[in-house]
Amino acid sequence: MSIKKSTIDGNTAAAHVAYAFSEVAAIYPITPSSSMGELADEWSAHGRKNIFGQQVDVIEMQSEGGASGAVHGALSAGSMTTTFTASQGLLLMIPNLHKIAGEMLPAVFHVSARSLAAQALSIFGDHSDVMSVRNTGWALMGAASIQETMDLGIVSHLSTLEARVPFINFFDGFRTSHEIQKVEVIDYKTIKSMLDMKFVENFRKLALNPDKPFMKVGAQNPDVYFQGRETVNKYYEKIPSIVQKYMDLLGEKIGRHYHLFDYVGAPDAEKIIIAMGSGCDTIEETVNFLCKKSKKVGAIKVRLYRPFSVEAFIKSIPSTVKKIAVLDRTKEPGSIGEPLYLDVVVALSEKNIKIIGGRYGLSSKEFTPSMVNAVFDHLDGPGFHNFTVGINDDITNHSIEIKEKIDTEAEDIKRCIFWGLGSDGTVGANKNSIKIIGDNTDMNAQGYFSYDSKKSGGITISHLRFGKSKIQSPYLIKTADFIALHNPAYIGRYDILEGIKHGGIFLLNSEWSNDEVFDHLTRDMQETIIEKKIKFYNINAIKIAKELGLRGRINTVMQAAFFKVSGILKEDEAIKLIKDSIKKSYMSKGESVVKKNWGAVDRTSAALQEIKYPESIDKIQKSFEPKKLIPDNASKFAKNIIEKIMHLKGDEIPVSHMPLDGAVPTGTIKLEKRGVAPMVPHWLSEKCIQCTMCSIVCPHSAIRPKQIEPDKLKNAPSTFKTVKSKTKNDKDLQYKIQVYIEDCTGCMNCVNICPVKALEIRPIEE
Ligand code: SF4
Ligand code: SF4
Repeated sequence: MSIKKSTIDGNTAAAHVAYAFSEVAAIYPITPSSSMGELADEWSAHGRKNIFGQQVDVIEMQSEGGASGAVHGALSAGSMTTTFTASQGLLLMIPNLHKIAGEMLPAVFHVSARSLAAQALSIFGDHSDVMSVRNTGWALMGAASIQETMDLGIVSHLSTLEARVPFINFFDGFRTSHEIQKVEVIDYKTIKSMLDMKFVENFRKLALNPDKPFMKVGAQNPDVYFQGRETVNKYYEKIPSIVQKYMDLLGEKIGRHYHLFDYVGAPDAEKIIIAMGSGCDTIEETVNFLCKKSKKVGAIKVRLYRPFSVEAFIKSIPSTVKKIAVLDRTKEPGSIGEPLYLDVVVALSEKNIKIIGGRYGLSSKEFTPSMVNAVFDHLDGPGFHNFTVGINDDITNHSIEIKEKIDTEAEDIKRCIFWGLGSDGTVGANKNSIKIIGDNTDMNAQGYFSYDSKKSGGITISHLRFGKSKIQSPYLIKTADFIALHNPAYIGRYDILEGIKHGGIFLLNSEWSNDEVFDHLTRDMQETIIEKKIKFYNINAIKIAKELGLRGRINTVMQAAFFKVSGILKEDEAIKLIKDSIKKSYMSKGESVVKKNWGAVDRTSAALQEIKYPESIDKIQKSFEPKKLIPDNASKFAKNIIEKIMHLKGDEIPVSHMPLDGAVPTGTIKLEKRGVAPMVPHWLSEKCIQCTMCSIVCPHSAIRPKQIEPDKLKNAPSTFKTVKSKTKNDKDLQYKIQVYIEDCTGCMNCVNICPVKALEIRPIEE
């Protein structure tokens, strides 16, 4: 057996396993599951073999309904088949899920669990989708981390073949599907050694085959349908023992041991939390922290949710437990409790234990150790049922208060935050950095990238952790050793330095000179830097990138600067590894691109300056005064909701401010003057041939042609350039291309399309 450590995301972990066991993958993309199908497709195209030595036949269908129908058909014909989905995609598969389970066909679907579109769509993660299919007859296996996604994925594939019941292997959308961690990748030889081919043969024997015809999928009437449904009971009863058998086999082979329910915490715990998915890692980290303070607390991580083994569940609970909080990452409006809570109540109906249920983390809402601590506190005293944690419900008062902020992470873990602009290369560079650290050192590494839904042109915040200790923190970084701001336009808009540690490092990309850069920070930032004695570095990455012909792509410069100032690796070693990875990433684009990026790395060290700043806050001379984002006379909706979201403070919005049915007033986008592009187009009127192509390609309608009557220009300032319009008109109109720089994202589409180079990209300050 060979075990290779690799820094990968959860979707890759699931796809690695699905590909191993499958002959057919019928796919249809939906966020955040799409990359599983894409990887399977790519691997197949490159001739990768599954554990049977075959290339997987990957077929993209026209919808999730089609994909699940194709899976059903392929399974009926005896092909080991899989698919990948999430959210409403999984719901579109429901009719086929019932059929596949009803016909006792073994299969595993890998689901990056995501919110359902209810009052609004959300692409982020929770368990609303998988909880909506819990009556379909599929076994449900939940993983808490990337490693578990791989390990339990294998257990699911092995179990389905023996059990003849299909499995959904789910993990949290975005939090696990898109998080990158250093994990042990189990090779296909080891995976194959765990498979008893007898079960594959049995599956094939039951397939539809013209040589031994039989008929299925008939209709049954009231006289027999009910009995037909009850025929499967014995199969479901056996599933827990089958799953545990394969968990044990996996443990023997790779040394990681799982149970249907895994208990962590004090052996004499009095209060425990029960949960599924990535929240379990946060709970475990908090429980370990609290146990070190002699608190009698614990947690149960549910692995196999369906079928629910009451016997195994009861065995996992310490006899000392008096109070339980069950946390569900879903909401069933009108129910007397969420699904996992109800199962726990029934399972423990004969025990004298107080059980309450609560909701957390809908749509990837942050779930932190402080929230876990608040749940344990809530169990003391009356501790009402049907609570929520992580929001402020000021209408029905179901939310619980977080009285204490705790930091449970290991001390040796370095935590770094990078503020970037969607598609500016920051996320790609950070993925690369985390791979460099994970694959070339003995450190553990984790990368998580929080985006807003705008994707390209939206804000991106990368959260990187690394260190010798185990990393079990599936939540955003709250206290950081290092913060980098790649886009100076965010100053004054977002709380960039929030949570920076005393003596931490702040790295800024800006075009300001080193003497003046401090004056361009807000008063809050300046005070934080002085009071916390922050090491403040400035670099003009845009200038370097421009001079090297990298067209504003500052990612390589900022990556090199990060390694230099953070001191994670020795400078020489870091430069060599960055250059190697540049070669790997850009070789397909030509040697000149590789050389330009190497040049960027070489120039970083000299361009990076540590900034001197006043020793005390009373010596601050000048600060940047941010503009108001929302005018004073704006609507209540704009002030209560839009403004908070614009400052990334949406988590603070209470329930009472949210629209009941998701309805929003129209025309609000005009308020969102983001001003996020550090470089914007500048019109060179004398060159323009008035083709208007620039305005057609702009994805944000931020550049527009205008024809203006001359008398309206009488009082225009001299800088307001216009040219004579070439269109046929009898009014002698003037023509202008106007860029609304605060709506522009600096994507360069207009600059690139202009046939006569009449647009030039320039710093927004100009
Ligand atoms: Fe002028 Fe260029 Fe725009 Fe055409 S694409 S209207 S030439 S600026
Ligand atoms: Fe529009 Fe040009 Fe700005 Fe891109 S760079 S958003 S195309 S104005």
